[in-house]
Amino acid sequence: MKDLAQRALDTAVKKGASYVEARIEDVRQRYLSTKNGQPAQVRDSQSYGLGVRVIAKGAWGFAATDVLTPAGVDKAAARATEIAEASALCKKEDVRLAPEQKYVARWEAPCRIDPFTVPVSAVIDLLLKVDAELRRVPGVTLAEAQMDFRRIEQLFVSSLGAISFSGSEIQKRSYPNSFGGQYQTKGYELVEELNLVENARRVAEEAVALHQAAQCPQGVADIILDGSQLGLQVHESVGHPIELDRVLGTEANFAGMSFLTLEKLGKLQYASEIVNIVADATPAHGPGMGTFAYDDEGVPGQATPIVQNGRFVGYLTSRETAAAIGQARSNGTMRAEGWNRIPLIRMTNVSLLPGSGTLEALIADTQDGIYFETNRSWSIDDRRYNFQFGTEIGWEIKHGKRTRMLKNPSYGGITTEFWNSCDAICGRELWTLWGLPNCGKGQPMQTMGTGHGASPARFRKVKVGVAYSE
Ligand SMILES: [Zn+2]
Repeated sequence: MKDLAQRALDTAVKKGASYVEARIEDVRQRYLSTKNGQPAQVRDSQSYGLGVRVIAKGAWGFAATDVLTPAGVDKAAARATEIAEASALCKKEDVRLAPEQKYVARWEAPCRIDPFTVPVSAVIDLLLKVDAELRRVPGVTLAEAQMDFRRIEQLFVSSLGAISFSGSEIQKRSYPNSFGGQYQTKGYELVEELNLVENARRVAEEAVALHQAAQCPQGVADIILDGSQLGLQVHESVGHPIELDRVLGTEANFAGMSFLTLEKLGKLQYASEIVNIVADATPAHGPGMGTFAYDDEGVPGQATPIVQNGRFVGYLTSRETAAAIGQARSNGTMRAEGWNRIPLIRMTNVSLLPGSGTLEALIADTQDGIYFETNRSWSIDDRRYNFQFGTEIGWEIKHGKRTRMLKNPSYGGITTEFWNSCDAICGRELWTLWGLPNCGKGQPMQTMGTGHGASPARFRKVKVGVAYSE
């Protein structure tokens, strides 16, 4: 494998490239689901190939192949160089990269139980047990359970030096409160930690009870968001606008621009002073979907402050965009969905750091409010400024007590006003690193897993209302 990657470098340099990187990836995926007491889908797939990205005559070129022979690799490397030379005909200026060092390294995410060694029948059995628990509750008409496992092995070399690493990434879905479950870079042990069967009954009962619940009132209220909803709030209203390629206008798909123009860096009071947000790819932050040792440009994963005491202090950068705004170094966020895609700036683990205190204490401290849990819908404008979120469930808070259940709750606001209204963040004990497996960006669209740590937090005087009417 290493010989083929090295060959891609040599060939591209011979053809005239001034910088080359080659990525060989082997991606294995398994998806299993059940529906109303029956296995529904069992999918197993593997994708294996090589991508070559080059700079020639000052412009980028990219090509990929699944023909992993010397001839196949030569062809891809030559093609990437030709594409760069063609792109150079319409370049405005030469691509410049922020400097980076050479590394030789190997990294593997901790994984105690390889999920691909767990028999499919055992996984289906567990899903059916969850399914049976869900349907034991009268009134449940649709019970679905799913698991999704992914393993990525990658070899990366560049003409700067060479690094190699192999990662292992496994995700699953279940009851947990988030956008379709919990996903982390871990082995099958995650499934065991989540106590799926034990939680199925409560989830089913809540689903049934929601039919009888009152609609969420309309107006302005103090709101508390659970950690998973807050994780998604961070993703949409902080994570996306800090992507520097969007800010610079090179990536505008999927609500892809940003209100965070360059003059705001270091100046904008993004949030209230208690708010601290980092983009942290290091394993010390946790087993997130944005945890890795090196990005797809060979830059080490880093911990970058984004919002410090409420102040906006950092973008997510690549070697090219860091250089474009005069920064000394990329903060290492370039990732590609697979061997046949170019890397883009992607969120790592963009997390809200914890404050202190329990959720009970926060509710007790709230006179009149609404507690929101588990995302159901979202919308946000192209500049990531005006947003609205709906959650599956809400609870009214009256005089410091959680009272009646509310259905179809939604809240909305303006990104900076909303974040500046944050006046309490719960403690480390409630902080969870949530995984979002399906962030879309680019054309052709690339799906990427990102991580978002958060504990519940309170926001004052937020617009609330009904997300759906039935
Ligand atoms: Zn996204």
